[in-house]
Amino acid sequence: MKNNQPDSARALRQEPSRVIVADCPSYLPNDVDTALAEIIQAIGGLTGFVKSGQTVLIKPNLFSAHPPEHAVTTHPQLVRQVILLCAKAGAGKIWVGDSPVGAQDEKELWARTGMQTAVANTSAELKSWHVKQKSLSCGEDILAVPEWYEDVDVVISLPKLKTHCLTTVTCGLKNVYGIVSGQAKIQFHVKYPSPLTMSAFLVRVFAKLKPQLTIADAVIAMEGNGPAHGRPLPVGVLLASRDTVALDTIGCMALRIQPSEVPMIRLAAENNLGCMDKTMIDCLGSGVTRLQAARMKPSLSRFLKYIPEPLFQLSTIFWQLRPKIIEQQCVKCGNCVTTCPKNTIKENDCTAYPRIYQKNCIACFCCMESCPQGAIALQLYFGSLFCVARKRRRKVNK
Ligand code: SF4
Ligand code: SF4
Repeated sequence: MKNNQPDSARALRQEPSRVIVADCPSYLPNDVDTALAEIIQAIGGLTGFVKSGQTVLIKPNLFSAHPPEHAVTTHPQLVRQVILLCAKAGAGKIWVGDSPVGAQDEKELWARTGMQTAVANTSAELKSWHVKQKSLSCGEDILAVPEWYEDVDVVISLPKLKTHCLTTVTCGLKNVYGIVSGQAKIQFHVKYPSPLTMSAFLVRVFAKLKPQLTIADAVIAMEGNGPAHGRPLPVGVLLASRDTVALDTIGCMALRIQPSEVPMIRLAAENNLGCMDKTMIDCLGSGVTRLQAARMKPSLSRFLKYIPEPLFQLSTIFWQLRPKIIEQQCVKCGNCVTTCPKNTIKENDCTAYPRIYQKNCIACFCCMESCPQGAIALQLYFGSLFCVARKRRRKVNK
């Protein structure tokens, strides 16, 4: 990305963080239009972000090939309306894209998530991640991004507000991780297996790739076992801010949790990437009451973040949170097999259904993320220490 934007940390110090929450009861074009008009007016016009002739990357959450009604991905109507606004603001090129986890078929992804419809009859172009990659250094890590990313002037991030089994919440902060190539990013789950280490890594990635504007889709959010297997929950708002940390902080209202309980938000605020202090955030708009009334149920794994880092690996002797394949829903596409960073999912020779060999599983949940059918569920097992002891006893008795 071209380095011609004002330093957002400096901008944040000069002005209070502002989050606009606009009422948006449905994805009908009129409702989305009205909500975006409120947002654009409150941020002082899109031309403050997009200058004439610039190249804009619109970055929705295209997590995996789910239809919009599953509430896994950003709704195409929001993407389409933002494209039209960027065109009106004079953008030279409008690119739309996201890199889902693993090696998913992009054409299928764009068709099922409604992105082909979103860009139809507009000047926008869907961008592929299956192109020549460029390396970006990020702390001690090297990130792979598409070479065309160098030509981007402005990033407008369009996340979906969802619960997340590893990071508690996924919204603006995590959405920028989709700029990193899907194949490259699965290996980071091996390097950073716990919620805390993964969150710290994601914050470093956010600092490197932060967008100029974030508009979050919480018209239908996802509660429960997100980011792919939760329940769609109507919240009925769009949230927007140039301060993504503040936006995620306000998004936590719908989950009835404190932002400091979300390691990613806490670490981003500690690193001066935005504001987590609700008393310092100017939260306004027609949808604030609706957001405050929401009650999203958290993920099954919400307790993981309370485990101190040194105890995290040790504690897994007593419990295991693991993926499980639901064969009735599986269409044998093989995505989970190619995505697993530990190669611990194999096709069963007889039935061709995939099988998870739990022994090497690191509970990164990339397989769940890559499954377009929602055929991989989350299961909590207790007593693995007891199982190990039983196996040892059996060996002794032989
Ligand atoms: S099987 Fe385990 S290690 Fe492999 S992708 Fe799924 S959660 Fe990650
Ligand atoms: S569980 Fe079945 S449908 Fe889901 S990714 Fe694996 S092979 Fe595809």
